Amino acid sequence: MTPSPSDPVALTRALVRCPSVTPADAGALDVLVGALEPLGFTCHRLRFDEDGTPPIDNLYARLGGAGPNLCFAGHTDVVPPGDPRDWTADPFAGDIIDGKLHGRGTSDMKAAIAAFVAAAARRIAAKGAPAGSISLLITGDEEGPAINGTRKVLDWLVEKGETLDACVVGEPTNPNYLGEMIKVGRRGSITGHLTVHGTQGHVAYPHLADNPLPRLVRMLAALTAEPLDQGNAHFQPSTLAITTIDVGNPADNVIPAKGTASFNIRFNDEHTSDRLKDWIKRTCDTVGGPYDLKFRVSGESFLTPPGALSALVADAVERVTGHRPELSTTGGTSDARFIKAHCPVVEFGIVGQTMHKVDEHVAVADVERLTDIYEAVIDGFFAPTGGTAA
Ligand SMILES: [Zn+2]
Repeated sequence: MTPSPSDPVALTRALVRCPSVTPADAGALDVLVGALEPLGFTCHRLRFDEDGTPPIDNLYARLGGAGPNLCFAGHTDVVPPGDPRDWTADPFAGDIIDGKLHGRGTSDMKAAIAAFVAAAARRIAAKGAPAGSISLLITGDEEGPAINGTRKVLDWLVEKGETLDACVVGEPTNPNYLGEMIKVGRRGSITGHLTVHGTQGHVAYPHLADNPLPRLVRMLAALTAEPLDQGNAHFQPSTLAITTIDVGNPADNVIPAKGTASFNIRFNDEHTSDRLKDWIKRTCDTVGGPYDLKFRVSGESFLTPPGALSALVADAVERVTGHRPELSTTGGTSDARFIKAHCPVVEFGIVGQTMHKVDEHVAVADVERLTDIYEAVIDGFFAPTGGTAA
């Protein structure tokens, strides 16, 4: 049974009952299409499968053809529940116990998607469709490699001449209580894999060998010697964490031929991944000797400077919850890193305390209040006076 689109709790439960562990969709997008089409949304199911990666189902749904286009972005995929016997309730049943809706993906982030759909439904019922467009960009590949998800949908939108004017991402941004925090940017993330080469030999004849390990240690010491920056008005200081140092040498009488280490940098907007790569190479070069470096960049840092969109969302949050939310750039990466190239983007969702954990749950009352917040955002965005928040 398709739940009423204006009932965010029933809709969240219907979504939770689809065990959409990445890359499976398990019917989650059908639930959304079933709710959105009767409201007048045109739904595009977009399936991408690059280079032998598992195919991923995505959805772009739009109500209206004119601008401005207010987009809500989110993901229906969830992380695995682990052993279901560790859970108080079946992770894919959507049980409500003592005012809390339990299940994998309730917090991250099916309740937020349901709340936005319900907010749109209520707005349409109360005032009709807005003069402009409401859209949803929903991916099934956020918790996974994020190859066939939001990025590809955005490319598809560009191809079709679709534009987004502002975007709210429904990640669970509140650490402890609803109304605590809006994210207006995110730090970037780069991982480095360093291999230092030498020549194997007998420990008693070190002049016949070339031990790479002192160089490896000195490179890591140089990389961690100074803070990367002091942070700034919108960002914490950047951090470099060594995540592993491996030699794998079982013999205490052999100088090994190589040593490896990995490190991750979470960086603010005082850096770019390219400039960090250059700095890492220059730092390793000061130690010298043969080495290779491989990098993986998960995303650049970005900031939507506080302005009309963050004010609109903050006002809506304050009106409903009584809390003025902090504008923050803390935490990991999200798909906002792709959307920021297309339009101003802020993130606001439900409380994230139990995301990715056993007994993930949300307060039923928060699902209702988040719906009120999103409805206020929609109303404010399309308010006839004062223009739009794009
Ligand atoms: Zn998420």
